[in-house]
Amino acid sequence: MLQLSTSVKYVKGVGPKLAELLAGKGIQSLDDLLHYLPFRYEDRLNPRGIAELRAGEMATVIAEVRTSGLFRTRRMPIFQMTAGQGRTRLKCIWFNATYLKDKFKPGQIVALYGKVEQDYRGGELQLTQPQFEIIGEASEDGGADSAEQKLAASLEIGRIVPIYEAIGQGRLSSRWFRRVIHAALENLTSDLPDPVPAAVRSHLSLISPREALQKVHWPEPGESIEDLQSSRTPAHVRLIFEELFFVELGLELKRREQKAQTGIAFQLDDRARAAIKKILPFHPTGAQKRVLKEIASDMEKPFPMRRLLQGDVGSGKTIVAFEAAIIAMENGYQVALMAPTEILAQQHYFSARRILESAGYRVVLLTGSMEDDRKRETRRYIAQGNAQLVIGTHALIEQKVEFAKLGMVIVDEQHRFGVLQRFKLMKKSSDAQVEPNSVASPEPDVLVMTATPIPRTLALTLYGDLDVSVIDEMPPGRTPIVTRCVSDERSTEVWDFVRKQAAAGHQTYVVYPVIEENEETELKAAMKMYKELSKSIFPDLRVGVLHGRMDPDLKEQVMRLFQKGELDILVSTTVIEVGVDVSNATMMVIEHAERFGLAQLHQLRGRIGRGAAKSYCVLMTGGKVSEDGERRLDAMVRTNDGFQIAELDLELRGPGEFFGTRQAGMPSFQVANLIRDRQLLEAAKREAAAVLAGTDSEITQAEIDTALRHMRTRWHKSYGLVEVG
Ligand code: ADP
Ligand code: MG
Repeated sequence: MLQLSTSVKYVKGVGPKLAELLAGKGIQSLDDLLHYLPFRYEDRLNPRGIAELRAGEMATVIAEVRTSGLFRTRRMPIFQMTAGQGRTRLKCIWFNATYLKDKFKPGQIVALYGKVEQDYRGGELQLTQPQFEIIGEASEDGGADSAEQKLAASLEIGRIVPIYEAIGQGRLSSRWFRRVIHAALENLTSDLPDPVPAAVRSHLSLISPREALQKVHWPEPGESIEDLQSSRTPAHVRLIFEELFFVELGLELKRREQKAQTGIAFQLDDRARAAIKKILPFHPTGAQKRVLKEIASDMEKPFPMRRLLQGDVGSGKTIVAFEAAIIAMENGYQVALMAPTEILAQQHYFSARRILESAGYRVVLLTGSMEDDRKRETRRYIAQGNAQLVIGTHALIEQKVEFAKLGMVIVDEQHRFGVLQRFKLMKKSSDAQVEPNSVASPEPDVLVMTATPIPRTLALTLYGDLDVSVIDEMPPGRTPIVTRCVSDERSTEVWDFVRKQAAAGHQTYVVYPVIEENEETELKAAMKMYKELSKSIFPDLRVGVLHGRMDPDLKEQVMRLFQKGELDILVSTTVIEVGVDVSNATMMVIEHAERFGLAQLHQLRGRIGRGAAKSYCVLMTGGKVSEDGERRLDAMVRTNDGFQIAELDLELRGPGEFFGTRQAGMPSFQVANLIRDRQLLEAAKREAAAVLAGTDSEITQAEIDTALRHMRTRWHKSYGLVEVG
């Protein structure tokens, strides 16, 4: 009998050579192999009769090969095969498929899966580019088939058949997986232990792991094809939940351990409350009040805060961070505020001076471009405990800055970090302040701010070790931006509208995309646009241009002109994406909007709608727009809500791309899919927390120990990077 931990090379039909191919896909043990799930299923129990096919549907057909051959048209070679069931026939075609030349022989039985379409004359139905499998050879001698051939046939036909992605240029085909996995399941021990506690199993009505593995590969005849295709059968749910449960268990444990460290119990007394009230330049929104309460309640507790503050651009995170800083400072502690760039550090510094310094707090800026003398002096000021709030770039504060009494670290993230990067960052930020002889000094509180709206369910996993607060409300007095999408054939109307805005004293951005991954070309396009707009279209208006290759001084000069209202129109590349704040700019025209990513469009649009006047965003398209492009533009027109946009972005691009590359601490899953399986993820998190809380009397200590042991092996194996427990 085989165990799940058995190396695949000992599985019948594999051996050392093929095991190497499998290892390339991360399949090393039998357990891995059995978690290599079919990506779809074919109903070959009830295959379709050719006569009942309808145009537009996806269908599985089993038929006999009649004729086949290659046709050369003027544009490309087309391979055509005709398959039959009795007297009915079905044409199948593949474009550019010379490789199929000798593939089929009359009399073979083939399973075909593909889209049913009318042929180009609009007449007969055909299968276009179907996937196929030859499942029976033409029997020449008519003799009895061997037992092996019979088994093979029974795996290919007369049931719901699993289809696997081939590996190694087809050397390990779907059929190969079918046979090997079938044999492995036959020989797999029948009593697989279940690492999921019984109470959790019963909450979710999970079937046993043995049954799940069997049925996910070889569904029973009655199983719903829709459920199979959407990974929603009890077998799928069992395997997906299990994977997510152990990830969440690890994250939850990590979180508990962080909380078990010694932190600072800040006092939120009347004095601190009054101090906060005094600095507020406006009435906080309901969302700002709520998140401050969440942060303050963490700060009062005797263990370190680890909290993520999420909010769309312009939702007002800064003031919340300042309020939290005041609590720490009123308790006699120092606060470090880390920004990703020097410009942003400077921006924070200016707001901090305006809001905090005027209230008597001592604020300093520490940046790389400061002169060495100034830097040294500032460091001394910090080390002596004179500076209360230190603002700087990550790079600077992560290096050894000595604080007299650091109580809180605020990280303004702005960019997308994976879990791993963030762990490093936090570790450094706490290392940075530990003086050699103060081993037992308490851990400072950490507040991470992010402007990337991360869909909540994903934040649960990506930031699973953090508590999450969300500002989901914009400050009052902002009129929603009106967004329209038009083809550039209507540009004259658009420019007329820009002229009206200028006449009313408002300003406009005209944004040009990176046409190619080539700065030279990008520049030319923006410059050409600038010339056309300034010379031919708006000779009477003041037009400026801004691009990434300009000299920084010149850039700032242009920006300042625009800020002061001395330019009506600013033509630019995407350099204006961050940090620009001109409330009199009420219009943005984005050229070739179909070429931008959704997140980028949203960030760009965030530059307008900052004042009380109504703002307009025109997405101008040039040329053909892809289906995904349509969906992006449509989302922009439909909503201003960063979270909704992020959700769709995630759906369109998948989590890998959404977070940059397939990078950094984003666990990759065997069977789970974070988008498809959101609900299971929520359930897994809930159950994992309950198990560790130890409040469920039905869960025994032995079960908890088993689960933790299993979790550690899995984490070590799959996410090896992150240590747990
Ligand atoms: P972000 O979340 O992008 O960091 P900011 O903190 O920079 O946003 O806030 C954006 C703008 O909104 C700032 O000019 C800020 O002063 C203003 N603001 C923030 N909160 C409020 C509020 N409750 N009422 C009015 N204006 C506010
Ligand atoms: Mg900000």
